[in-house]
Amino acid sequence: MQRTMQRLLDMANALGYAVYFCGLRGDLLACTVPALMRIFIDSRLTDSEQQGHLAHELGHVYHDHPCIRHPQTANEHAIERQADRFAARVLIDPIRYAELESVNPDQHYLADELGVPIEYVHVYEAHCLTRVRGVTYTHAREGVGQWAHRVEVA
Ligand SMILES: [Zn+2]
Repeated sequence: MQRTMQRLLDMANALGYAVYFCGLRGDLLACTVPALMRIFIDSRLTDSEQQGHLAHELGHVYHDHPCIRHPQTANEHAIERQADRFAARVLIDPIRYAELESVNPDQHYLADELGVPIEYVHVYEAHCLTRVRGVTYTHAREGVGQWAHRVEVA
């Protein structure tokens, strides 16, 4: 868990962003302010939720998305889904996922063991895996370390 947060903070730093954990107002749980190169995460969230929101916000930074508070148009929803896919790829280690899924494919179990909010397990399974005839293939991760799990084949 701690390693994941450190990796996310390192990623933010590499992108030139500072991350602040503080009490946010209203229903705002996280936000990115590109003009200040700062990401704000609500400090009242659990560790897992903070990591999920930070990974999502890093997706917005990585893809250079505009700031959208309440997505309404199809394009705005597509932007949010792209940030979710980025977050799922960054948060979920494909080898660990494969190990855990072979024990129990239940999404709640996977979320608990991976230490990620369950919505990212859903996103990961829907957008980051391809299953063909009993074999599961994972897509490349995004951001720092995206090729860390490449396996050389003779
Ligand atoms: Zn977003």
